[in-house]
Amino acid sequence: MLSGKVMLITGASRGIGKAAALLAAANHAHVIINYNKSEDRATELVNQIREMGFYASMVKADVSSEEDVKAMFSYIKEKHSGLDVLVNNAGIMKNSLLSLSNTEMFYQIIGVNLKGTFLCTRYASNIMRKQRSGKIINLSSVSGLNGDAGQTVYSASKAAVIGFTKSAARELGMYGITVNAVAPGLIETDLIKDIKNEVREKILSNIALGRIGIPEDIAKVILFLSSDLADYVSGEVIVVDGCQKIM
Ligand code: NAP
Repeated sequence: MLSGKVMLITGASRGIGKAAALLAAANHAHVIINYNKSEDRATELVNQIREMGFYASMVKADVSSEEDVKAMFSYIKEKHSGLDVLVNNAGIMKNSLLSLSNTEMFYQIIGVNLKGTFLCTRYASNIMRKQRSGKIINLSSVSGLNGDAGQTVYSASKAAVIGFTKSAARELGMYGITVNAVAPGLIETDLIKDIKNEVREKILSNIALGRIGIPEDIAKVILFLSSDLADYVSGEVIVVDGCQKIM
């Protein structure tokens, strides 16, 4: 489905990004794995993809740092003739009641989830505009649509990603670039490992499909949005939550 396409996935060392990388590589994309702290896991993933007979490379960058993002895109321009797909997946979540939240935490979450998306999209769109083609996929969250107690900052960052997606889709459409968001519900990754069992059970009881999501559930939607099948889809937010009732 992605034969010959070059695809950058931010935060692909673990979780949803890793699953998206494996599926895209198996569909013949050359996947560029961005990581920040998990170098061993990124190396392991690149080796795994290469052993399967597909293409992958890796690049370290903290997406909240403009210097790092600039260097990452210089590396991409040097190694590849273009960039076909950008997946802004890197994200952090810190739960905290509003009264206990501080400014440092605010800037950390906004820095990775929103500034990271903004920076990578800006640099990627410079390449894609010249090609007059490209697909950008941003990871939002159902929390950005519905909100959740203890998640004011995280929800705000993910709601902002939706506004960003819709505006970028309008602005970049004339260059043949699509921009969409995926809003996952609860997905079994490191991100949710600290969620208490009773909260998990409560969420589970509200999911029509009767299970918590797995990274591959999101990877499949990312694959669709990255492919020609989604050529006329832009400015959309696709919720992937197993049909969860708002609690
Ligand atoms: P995860 O398992 O915790 O993985 C997070 C990834 O982001 C890691 O690869 C990490 O890389 C990377 N990352 C974090 N900070 C970074 C930075 N400053 N620069 C570059 N990479 C950075 O999380 P996940 O569950 O796969 O989440 C992926 C995305 O889906 C996030 O945007 C998240 O908000 C969203 N999401 C997840 C869920 C869920 O239930 N899991 C639900 C809704 C939305 P290193 O380890 O290399 O630092």
